[in-house]
Amino acid sequence: MYESYWRKMGNKCDITFNGDDSLSYFANGKSLCWFLESKLEEQIKRLHNVVENAIVDDYYIVVGTGSSQLMQAALYALSPTDQLEPISVVSATPFYSSYPEVTDFVKSGLHKWAGDARTFEKNGPFIEFITSPNNPDGVVREPVVNGNQGKLIYDLAYYWPQYTAITSPANHDVMLFTISKCTGHAGSRIGWALVKDKEVAKKMTKFIEISTIGVSKEAQLRAAKILEVVSDSCLDPKMENFFEYSQSLMSDRWKRLRQVVMDNNFFVLQKYPFQYCLFTKDFCESHPAFAWLICKGGEEEDCQKLLKEHKIHTRSGRRFGSDLRNVRISMLSRDEDFNIFLKRLTTIRGPTNEN
Ligand code: PMP
Repeated sequence: MYESYWRKMGNKCDITFNGDDSLSYFANGKSLCWFLESKLEEQIKRLHNVVENAIVDDYYIVVGTGSSQLMQAALYALSPTDQLEPISVVSATPFYSSYPEVTDFVKSGLHKWAGDARTFEKNGPFIEFITSPNNPDGVVREPVVNGNQGKLIYDLAYYWPQYTAITSPANHDVMLFTISKCTGHAGSRIGWALVKDKEVAKKMTKFIEISTIGVSKEAQLRAAKILEVVSDSCLDPKMENFFEYSQSLMSDRWKRLRQVVMDNNFFVLQKYPFQYCLFTKDFCESHPAFAWLICKGGEEEDCQKLLKEHKIHTRSGRRFGSDLRNVRISMLSRDEDFNIFLKRLTTIRGPTNEN
């Protein structure tokens, strides 16, 4: 959905590579993360300072092939190696559907998916994923498991002003970000982790060294350029501010979706509080990247199936540890697709609206 913005930026984001550029595995001998391009490091820090959504001073930055690779690297780095049993990995339902898949995919002896954090009662160490705002339901979250043996991974993929109010700069031990959701450049596969502890950052770097010997330099340098333009757009009054632009697109989509949902009286949508945003210096509502729809029908209502019959592709609540009555719908599709989605949703009628 951000294509139109980037098209308007014309050649501002162009970068060129000669045949003899960027051949080496190494990028920055001085950095703990030896394959991190210094230009990317600089632009990541600059953008967080401009947006005020995370503290970067005294943090190590680890770059990954998307934050998906960093999720795996963080699991590896936070899992104890001296235990007989794999460490339990939890997240509160509804949780991002990749966490169980990523945790158990290679059946590692280090970590094991243990489901909903709210019902987790085992004593001993555990890892909790906290996604804030959450995928799929857009809610701002905090850890839910009590106990001091938890290691927390904050997935802050959506902690950007177009989705939610920036209420304070985040300063957790391990924080994951991705260019995919910040600027829309998911295809570049660039994510970064801000890590407080040196040993954890070293282990995450080692994981990426073993799995891919670093991260594509072309992708890193393109990402650096894109982030540079985003920061410039926030600071230069002559440019169109990327976050203002994307926030107004999201706000318009959410307004139209809420109207359709109200008219057809068949679904319930999550409500969000108004909060003061440090970036926009105003009160604003959340505009999550996904709509979490609940069918008003009974417990047995299979919302995904029902919407499929109306040619609307969704992901069932089941995939997020929730139930059949819920579905997740992307709010980030292209304009044409979003308009068709709303048109199709309009044709669904609730019991009191049947005519
Ligand atoms: N975390 C969350 C919460 C996400 O929703 C996504 C993408 N759907 C990711 C991580 C992965 O992002 P990336 O493209 O950087 O791998």
